[in-house]
Amino acid sequence: MNRTVLVINSGSSSMKFSLVQPDSGVEIADGLVERIGERESIAKVQFGDRTVDRECAVADHDAALRLTFELFDEAGGNLETVGLVAVGHRLVHGGRDLYRPTVIDDAVVAKARELAPLAPLHNPPAVIGVEVARRMLPDLPHIAVFDTAFFHDLPAAAATYAMDRELAEQWRIRRYGFHGTSHQYVSEQAAEFLDRPLDQLNQIVLHLGNGASASAIAGGRPVDTSMGLTPMEGLVMGTRSGDVDPGIVFYLARTAKMAVEDIEAMLNRRSGVFGLGGDNDFRELHRLIEGGSEPEAGHARLAYDVYIHRLRKYIGAYLAVLGDTHVITFTAGVGENDAKVRRDALTGLAPLGVEIDEHLNESPSRGARVISADNSPTTVLVIPTDEELAIARACVAVLG
Ligand code: AMP
Repeated sequence: MNRTVLVINSGSSSMKFSLVQPDSGVEIADGLVERIGERESIAKVQFGDRTVDRECAVADHDAALRLTFELFDEAGGNLETVGLVAVGHRLVHGGRDLYRPTVIDDAVVAKARELAPLAPLHNPPAVIGVEVARRMLPDLPHIAVFDTAFFHDLPAAAATYAMDRELAEQWRIRRYGFHGTSHQYVSEQAAEFLDRPLDQLNQIVLHLGNGASASAIAGGRPVDTSMGLTPMEGLVMGTRSGDVDPGIVFYLARTAKMAVEDIEAMLNRRSGVFGLGGDNDFRELHRLIEGGSEPEAGHARLAYDVYIHRLRKYIGAYLAVLGDTHVITFTAGVGENDAKVRRDALTGLAPLGVEIDEHLNESPSRGARVISADNSPTTVLVIPTDEELAIARACVAVLG
């Protein structure tokens, strides 16, 4: 029988699950419960060609997981017979000590809980997901896969903030990096797709989803990444600001008398292209730019321009970090689907060895593809990310 891993990604008000067969790479089912704890939650499960959904109140993550299993049954699935071997949990922050995929016991849960101050928006709901799933499926091994893991050995020059060394050590302040599962998976896929050895490729991976991050990877090992102590640093994102002058925080606290929590919420949830342009979905942003009335169209245009400007700055920086870049890969929701973003990010970079082919860039496809011109020294790719598959594979690797 095929081995199957249940992968759980638990957020504060949502819970995603998928059933993945790591040996074949097939995802046999996936599901999502949104608006947990609100009056009307939305749950949806897809299995084969059947989709079942439900709108009802889902009080907590416990109820969400139970409902997901129910809908999976309704769609014709049977958890008992799919060959479940493990439950994989996506944990955002592993801190300094948790980085290898780890079989979860009470000590790991306690450690992940301790890391809450480093990732207040992400770790606590993930830990709730772990606890709920361990209670519901006590006989299976539960394995934590950390978003920070791939960047654990980032060179010190890239990982260190130039600030008071002792204070940084005391409070574990360094650049941890996030989306690591995706950056690693996509860079490995790129090598496989090009049929070139991973250890001989210098790559830039641009993970552009609602969250967005860039990484520079030399021979399979990351040498820089745009996210830092938290996922707030770096590129402009859907709702996060990315890089800002830290002076803004003190200015708002001192002068606008804003509480630290409010500044944090503003930079996380009301910034980025949403904060500037009124929407965090790039399809809507383009619609506003092309057909919206003023001043909305102008706001959306500025949001897009700021996003592209920051992206180009990081690409330029990583071309310099790597010296000789063989591959640039776009991935995640925006990176995989938005040809305009890809074009505008790379236009005019021919003198730096990067030239996109307009026609290839505009032609959609489901799998990995080349979008650079034949004569471009750097190959530009679009590769769909698959964090669930990467987590499932990490789980079976732990089990041996
Ligand atoms: P992710 O976080 O990877 O799921 O990406 C979600 C984001 O991808 C959405 O907020 C949209 O901005 C973007 N997106 C998804 N589909 C498209 C599309 N067809 N064209 C442009 N952007 C898209």
